[in-house]
Amino acid sequence: MVRYADRLDAIPPYLFVEMAQLKAKAIAEGRDLIDFGIGDPDQPTPQPIIDRLGEAANNPATHRYDESDYGCPEFINAAAAWYRRRFSVELDPSRGEVLGLIGSKEGLAHLAWAFISPGDVGLVPDPGYPVYKVNTAMAGGTPYLMPLLAENAFLPDLSAIPSDVAKRAKLMYINYPNNPTAATATPKFFADVVAFAKEYDVIVCQDAAYSEVTYDGYKSPSFLAVPGAMDVGVEMHSLSKTYNMTGWRVGFAVGNADILRGLNKLKSNIDSKQFPALMLAGAWALRNLEGNPKTIALYQKRRDIIIDGLNSLGWNLPKTEATLYIWAPIPPGYAAIEFAKTLLEKAGVLVVPGVGYGEYGEGYVRLSLTVTGDRDGERVAEAIERIKQNVEIKW
Ligand SMILES: *Cc1c(COP(=O)(O)O)cnc(C)c1O
Repeated sequence: MVRYADRLDAIPPYLFVEMAQLKAKAIAEGRDLIDFGIGDPDQPTPQPIIDRLGEAANNPATHRYDESDYGCPEFINAAAAWYRRRFSVELDPSRGEVLGLIGSKEGLAHLAWAFISPGDVGLVPDPGYPVYKVNTAMAGGTPYLMPLLAENAFLPDLSAIPSDVAKRAKLMYINYPNNPTAATATPKFFADVVAFAKEYDVIVCQDAAYSEVTYDGYKSPSFLAVPGAMDVGVEMHSLSKTYNMTGWRVGFAVGNADILRGLNKLKSNIDSKQFPALMLAGAWALRNLEGNPKTIALYQKRRDIIIDGLNSLGWNLPKTEATLYIWAPIPPGYAAIEFAKTLLEKAGVLVVPGVGYGEYGEGYVRLSLTVTGDRDGERVAEAIERIKQNVEIKW
């Protein structure tokens, strides 16, 4: 009998076995599903980035281990230059303020392993990206859930964290623009987080995976631009959503050098860094592409169709300002999973029940703007039409 390490017990069971079965059944029956479930860009990586990868991969010098300390120098220098250009934040790669990652999920997970000891508290948002909570627990820590509620604009209420919990807290994760609620944060909120972190000696990790997925001209602020943030925290970035590069696994962490040194000490005993050719292609993107305007325009078009459509059915949703998501309250009379099942069975429309992101996600479903097979909003419009025709919604 194979016996897993006890820490794997910290991984929660997959909540949506039934949803997954219903989806598989619908596909097997040949039903036409419109899938709002996947938070993974449906559009290809921009061609110039692919071309740079081809060139770099044809250079045998990239076929070896990356022997640098913090990651391919071209990449970390490009990340620092991008930070200066984009956020007016000065980072010094020579002092260890920039660290290459094999995708930001890797860095977010390993940060808990580098800083959480058994008995420590990890402050994690709920609903939230599951990585924060699971890795805090696997590292032996106790996750303390910070509820993200509509009445607080989906920001954690720091004053609601009991002081004995705050004193035991080692690490706080925040994530703005936010998955799954699509909320954004102000510099004022970031300043409150810095004050809290200083008072209780807590390390802050701000996950900025969606900083460049923004609409209507909205510019997402950097945590590190707030005075004092460099003393307490790091920010994690990913090229995944910015440049449709999820499968490439390219990200970076920036901020406090002591924190990054701990993360890198762990990482250098686990991985041997990313394929240098990928990092060179990523460096080129950071230096030469201002985000990905064509893809953003497509998401924005889908966003408008979905939100206008749902609002015509009685919702009262604001226009998503950032991220790939719409966080929609469930009409009265349904629980989250039941509503998602109804949409799937009656309309062939797949959405994710909010409880998949934590207990405070009950009452919501998440719709992603990355709808595979949608070219120009036509599938998204079809989904709204099907809901209108087939699902009874009463407010
Ligand atoms: C997608 C996502 C990430 C990202 O990922 P990598 O592909 O590992 O860089 C990180 N945080 C959140 C909240 C995400 O949704």
